[in-house]
Amino acid sequence: MRFLLALMISIIVLGCKNNSEKLSLHDESQSYEGPIIDMHIHSAEKEEFTKDTLGFCLPIINIIQHFDPKEDYLEIWNEKLHNPECVDPMWSPKSYDNFIERLTYQLEKHNISTVTSGPPLTVEDIHNRIGDRIIKSCQFRIGRDSITLDSLRLLVEKNGFRVLGEISNQYEGIAPSDPRMEPYYALAEQLDIPVAIHLGSGLPGHFYFEPGLSPRLSNPLELEPIIRKFPKLRISIMHYGEPFIDELIAMMGNFPQLYADIGGIQVYYPREYFYEYHLKKLVSAGFGKRIMFGSDMIIWPEIIDRAVRVIDEAPFLSMQQKEDIFYNNAARFLRLEEMK
Ligand SMILES: [Zn+2]
Repeated sequence: MRFLLALMISIIVLGCKNNSEKLSLHDESQSYEGPIIDMHIHSAEKEEFTKDTLGFCLPIINIIQHFDPKEDYLEIWNEKLHNPECVDPMWSPKSYDNFIERLTYQLEKHNISTVTSGPPLTVEDIHNRIGDRIIKSCQFRIGRDSITLDSLRLLVEKNGFRVLGEISNQYEGIAPSDPRMEPYYALAEQLDIPVAIHLGSGLPGHFYFEPGLSPRLSNPLELEPIIRKFPKLRISIMHYGEPFIDELIAMMGNFPQLYADIGGIQVYYPREYFYEYHLKKLVSAGFGKRIMFGSDMIIWPEIIDRAVRVIDEAPFLSMQQKEDIFYNNAARFLRLEEMK
């Protein structure tokens, strides 16, 4: 009996030990401390910040875990953001000034330079306020952003815009290879600036916000006609075309000029799933030199902290792989040396 009791206690103790080992898997000495390039943030509009602050929970996919279509989706979503169900929601800034302050803090804390996409005027504004950590990128969506080819040329040649993106036609159900995009791709190729194309899921239930969004168009195979037509064009797949990992692998294998940014997906899905079925798979398939860090920061600056942590704490990444994902790959893709 005594022996049994001792055995049970030792099992319990050993069990605890195992658990604490699991919890402390991330060795702080292995933390990445170098500079970071965030390939994917957005310049927010001033009107987006009011006293009515919104609480956002991670992982994003868990915000809505089920939905009965007899309900009003937007009402439910609204409720989840006003009364978030997690213990550690991020709260949106009450004003644009507070947003800039908190974003600057994040960028300085992690030594981040960031490709910042938005309408040209808001990108200019955020660049004026924060400075050269902001790499200017011109967002584009057919029908919404009516920027002409001449204005795009001017933005690049006179105003220092470095990237055409986020190209978000997927939200309107428009494929990357839509013929209306061809003159823009041709110009980007000619001006030698990369394009960054959104391929991936929207918010949970995004259909109810923008019914045009088609998950079918997240598939990286959709890019093949563009690559064939514009062989010198540099393309970054924003959100890496998740969850179409095998298709991404097929495309990256066949077209070694193709890069992909993580684009907030490290906080979109639960960490275990992102690690096991996306990041680990891509790195172990041999694409660690073309995956770039991205947070998809929109109005919650602290998402950057969380997004950095998920990559930094990936137990299967070597320090060299972290250096590549956080900095080297994006620097090579953007030709940062030549930009200076
Ligand atoms: Zn996107």
